[in-house]
Amino acid sequence: MNYKIDILAIGAHPDDIELGVAGTLIKHVNMGCTVGMLDLTRGELGTRGNADLRGKEAELAKNYISASFRENLGLKDGFIEEDEQSVKLLVQKIRLYRPKIILCNAVRDRHPDHGVAASLVLKAVFSAGLPKIETLHNGKSQKPFRPNAVYHYIQDRWIDPDFVVDVTEEFEDKMNAVMCFKSQFYDPNSNEPNTPISSKEFLSSLESKALLCGRIIGVKYGEGFTKSRAIGVQNLLDFT
Ligand SMILES: [Zn+2]
Repeated sequence: MNYKIDILAIGAHPDDIELGVAGTLIKHVNMGCTVGMLDLTRGELGTRGNADLRGKEAELAKNYISASFRENLGLKDGFIEEDEQSVKLLVQKIRLYRPKIILCNAVRDRHPDHGVAASLVLKAVFSAGLPKIETLHNGKSQKPFRPNAVYHYIQDRWIDPDFVVDVTEEFEDKMNAVMCFKSQFYDPNSNEPNTPISSKEFLSSLESKALLCGRIIGVKYGEGFTKSRAIGVQNLLDFT
C-alpha cells in the first residue's frame, strides 16, 4: 500500500488529540515518523474562549508536537453526524493523506461528540476504500485507499485499554502541548466561567489516567488505546 504519512490523529474538538495522544505523537515524531492532525470541528461551542482563539492555540500545540500539518474539517461542534456529506469530507482527507495508522476519539465518552466522531471515522475509513465513492482533489478523482489500522484513544471516561504506549519520556511534553490551550484548562488568572475541564483536578485526573495506563504495562506513564479489529504482529517478541 502506498502510504503518504505514518499517523493521522483525528479529534472531534481542538485539544482532544493533545489530551488523548500528544505523548504518543511526540514519541513517534522523535522516532522520525510523519504525523498529521485533523480536528473535525473548531470547538465553537466551548464555554471558554472562542473558535478563533482555539484555532491559534491548536496551531501552537501543533508546532509544539512538530506535526507536519493540522487541518480543520469544519463540521458543527455539538452536532457531528454520520451523514453522507461528513463521511465524504473525511474520505477526501483520508485519500489525500493516505495514513498508515489513524488515531481517533474514544468509542464512548462524557462528551457525546466523541463517540459519534469515532463512529464517523470508522465509516469514512471503510468508505475511503470503495472505488465507487467518488471524491475530488484539485479537480481530479481520488484513488480508493484504506489505512492499515484505526485505534481509539481513551479520553475523559475510563475504558480498559487493549494496548498501552509507554510515554514516560514524553509525558512532560504532553502536558506542555495540552497547556497550549490556555483558554480551556486551569489558569488561576482567568476570569472565564469554570467548566468540567478548567479545574486543577482535571489536570490531576489526566495524570492519574496516564499513571494507571503506565502501571498496567510496568512503566510510569502510558497512553491507552482500544482497537477496532484484532491487532496483527509479525512475531510474539513484538509484544512487551
Ligand atoms: Zn472533545
